[in-house]
Amino acid sequence: MNPSMAGPVLSERVVRRVEGPVLSERVVRRVEGHRLLRLVCALACGVTGLAAQSMTSVPGTQKLDADYTARIKAATADPRILTELVDHMPASARVPSPLKVLGYIPGEPGKLTYHKDIVRYLDALDKASDRVAMFKIGVSDEGRDMVAVAIADETTISQLDKYRQITAQLTDPRKLTEAQAKQLIATGKPIYFAMGSIHSPELGSPEMLMELAYRLAIEESPFIQTIRNNIIFVFTPASEVDGREKQVDNFVAQQKGLPSPSMVYWGKYVQHDNNRDGIGVGLRLTQVMLKTFLEWHPQVWHDLHESVTLLYTSTGTGPYNAIVDPIQINEWWLLAQTEILELTKRGVPGVWTYNFYDGWVPNYMFWIGVTHNSIGRFYETQSYGGAVNRPLPVQQSREWYRPNPAPSDMVWGPRNNVNLQQSALLIAMNSVAKNKETFLENYYLKNKHTIERGRAKAPHAYVVPAKQRRRVEAAELMNLVRREGAEVHTASSAFSIGTTQVERGDYIVRLDQPYGGIVETLLGVQFYAPENPRPYDDTGWAIPLVRNLKTQRIDDKTIFDKPMALASTDFTIPGTITGTGRVLIVDHTTDNPLVTFRFAHPGVKMSAAEREFEAGGHRFAPGAFVIGDGAGNAASRASVERSIRALGLSAWAVDAAPDVPMHDLDVPRIGYVHTWTSTQDEGWVRLAFDNFKVPYTYFGAPKLREGNLREKYDVIIFPHAGQGGSALITGGVQGDEPRPYKKTELTPNVGTVDSTDDMRGSIGIDGLMELYKFVDQGGLFIAEGATSTVFPAYNFTPSVTVETPDNLYVRGSVLKTILADKASPVLYGYDQNTLAVYFNQAPVMRVGGGASGGGRGGGVNVPPVGNMQPNAAQPTLTTLEGPPPAPPAADAGGGRGGRGGRGGGGAEAPDPHAPRVLLSFPTNANDLLLSGILIGGEALAGRAVAIDAPIGKGHVVMFANRPFWRWQTQGNFFLGFNAILNWNDLDAGRTAPRPSTTPAGQ
Ligand SMILES: [Zn+2]
Repeated sequence: MNPSMAGPVLSERVVRRVEGPVLSERVVRRVEGHRLLRLVCALACGVTGLAAQSMTSVPGTQKLDADYTARIKAATADPRILTELVDHMPASARVPSPLKVLGYIPGEPGKLTYHKDIVRYLDALDKASDRVAMFKIGVSDEGRDMVAVAIADETTISQLDKYRQITAQLTDPRKLTEAQAKQLIATGKPIYFAMGSIHSPELGSPEMLMELAYRLAIEESPFIQTIRNNIIFVFTPASEVDGREKQVDNFVAQQKGLPSPSMVYWGKYVQHDNNRDGIGVGLRLTQVMLKTFLEWHPQVWHDLHESVTLLYTSTGTGPYNAIVDPIQINEWWLLAQTEILELTKRGVPGVWTYNFYDGWVPNYMFWIGVTHNSIGRFYETQSYGGAVNRPLPVQQSREWYRPNPAPSDMVWGPRNNVNLQQSALLIAMNSVAKNKETFLENYYLKNKHTIERGRAKAPHAYVVPAKQRRRVEAAELMNLVRREGAEVHTASSAFSIGTTQVERGDYIVRLDQPYGGIVETLLGVQFYAPENPRPYDDTGWAIPLVRNLKTQRIDDKTIFDKPMALASTDFTIPGTITGTGRVLIVDHTTDNPLVTFRFAHPGVKMSAAEREFEAGGHRFAPGAFVIGDGAGNAASRASVERSIRALGLSAWAVDAAPDVPMHDLDVPRIGYVHTWTSTQDEGWVRLAFDNFKVPYTYFGAPKLREGNLREKYDVIIFPHAGQGGSALITGGVQGDEPRPYKKTELTPNVGTVDSTDDMRGSIGIDGLMELYKFVDQGGLFIAEGATSTVFPAYNFTPSVTVETPDNLYVRGSVLKTILADKASPVLYGYDQNTLAVYFNQAPVMRVGGGASGGGRGGGVNVPPVGNMQPNAAQPTLTTLEGPPPAPPAADAGGGRGGRGGRGGGGAEAPDPHAPRVLLSFPTNANDLLLSGILIGGEALAGRAVAIDAPIGKGHVVMFANRPFWRWQTQGNFFLGFNAILNWNDLDAGRTAPRPSTTPAGQ
């Protein structure tokens, strides 16, 4: 238990500190206390010890814990889901079992354990056993501690740093000779890292991990000794700590016969999507786990999920992402088949692989492992609700990938779940332990091969200009690459390579490094061949495109010989103020800290320039912030300048304001609407608002019905909420009794993000009319995704229609859009003609009349049956610059209202009521797909993507794309931020007359 860094004998509670920069803080541990505990336990636990002596023993001489063992058998609902690995529990005179500390065994019906109590148990285990060491690894979004626990034999635990150094060294073969590598492989130990319950309704893994920890610490069977002596097992009992506590609150209420508050929130921001943050790394959960991964360099990184019958162990249908090393693909299958074989031998049915997910998008938690040459894998174990045993009538066919299907007469419950997960995990760990050198060697080779691939095969590097327009965002992306453990260089002097001119200080990210896989993930472009099986999640991410950054792929090997220096710290972009005049002009680059800047100085009068202009020797795009020295501004000048420098903004101090039309950037009061049924998607929007310090009042949709919205708010945003149109209006939580969601003595962990006495209902027609009234009276309503369909569905925005094409298939792809009305404030700062956006199947929106011009019958490519070489298909991607050439964008002075619909209003006389189409899809269906999959693109060609529809004195701005998608689309954030900042001046740049009266139809 006492690691090597202890030094002199410790006598009191000692906070374990990291040794070197990579190790996390050791949890407080009582070393002397531990010895005392042993003494106390030797006396107090004597009764249990004696009782155990009368029971049968595991092979060898170890006594069983009779009570514990009997409880395992009693709790197991179906004897087929029990193996000799977990059907008993040895007794320990000095190490406390979960039963001793909690009063029940993991998987006992009617029991579910809070994370804080799991940690309490693990802490007791840590104090009592030299084979266990617990670490605090970070803090969750809601402020709860996250922990990891390491288990191995005593000597190994006392030398954890030594073993962590070995896996760290094997990560970088560039610094090793073959002889050194062999030596490390012979002396090292694989680290097997498991993560419990990232998905809060998946209840069993945190329970199971407590028991597994105890078993590994005390059992002396040869099978367990093989594991304990040859690998290091590390686990986090529940990676979604915040969600676990809310889940147990719900359970506790249910056990008392009270209505459970519901799991409308898991973590602070998102629900199930906490397992889709592997690319963006926006949540604390992901940040902490990534950091922990890089501290251990585990050879296996295993996420424990629960859904399908009875145990799915991951491989995948393909297509496997091209960054996955071939060795890893074989390791996936090797481990999965080992588990299937060994469990089948033991008579356990329903264990299978292959046909569950694809192996494509690297946004899952376990892909932190895959992208870093560890074996990233997961289980899906049959889940259970309510922690009771009940029949599980399933019909599972026998398939080649599921040779021993689950029978239809199963009884299922929590202990079955615990037995199955634990048995499978023990089998996997035992296999890794028995083949420890193979797995260490494979790990070393995967890292080596990644480096060699980067050297031999294009792309060899990516160059990211440091001085590009969005220089803060460019630095942020480079910092993300570094946070992933990958290397970023900067050019030491200017050079050219091919047609690319590289300036001194430009970022160079090389592929000839061990973590080249994550480099390609973050800087490359993806094509998902339609011939493949239907994808499980997103198909394209193209991060530089959706972050609106310029990057250059380098296919020339001489890049490795160019002058460059390895960055050793994160990049920070200091803001600049050029000149000394009394008027400050801040360039609008769409770098996101600009919105932080506005809200940080609400009392300072700022204006937006409506046209481009030159001042101080600089050309400013429309939207530049102009800050004069009147109205109290002079007094705050120093504080404004501090913000400019801290936020990385570019400002010029000139003698006079530019001679262009301007409007005030009035600071709005923002209302932020969520439903009580789906907070999954809005959570990502909220994360962006919180990160960039955009203030808002957050409330549930039923509150809209209270009315007086215009008195309370200037802007109301209602992000995507699962369903659109009338379903959003009439849906919501149902029931005859009020449904509170709030903190109570019994449920202290819910009600943190928002709370209410009654969740029932949704907007309703009355709430919708209030929302309409709000806009009519001069408010701005911002909708995205499905909420964009609400106003069109009720004909509040005549000439905007929502189409439902039959033959369109676009699953989480990156598509090209045309900036159709560059004079609109919503597009301020976007100094370009095309913009990449994330789009996922719907909504398809059209502005203007006319017949549907080719939306149907575009022809879905029906994949040939049994295509066994789907990835032989040639990519059919376009680029932001074409080909084919994009239609000319409207010039800066003229917003063309009716543009967009094929066969629609583009060439007609301007309709005074016409909404402005701000972004539209290109009219050529072959010029749409930048990354991912697109079938039947004709249905999207020419359709509107972002629309500004005037109503009365106000506006509704609708986005068919998702500007705030999963902390990935930072280049689109400012579409929303611009709308907010210019909320009462959105008519700026409008050429068609604005309707003076409310349009008919309400
Ligand atoms: Zn899950």
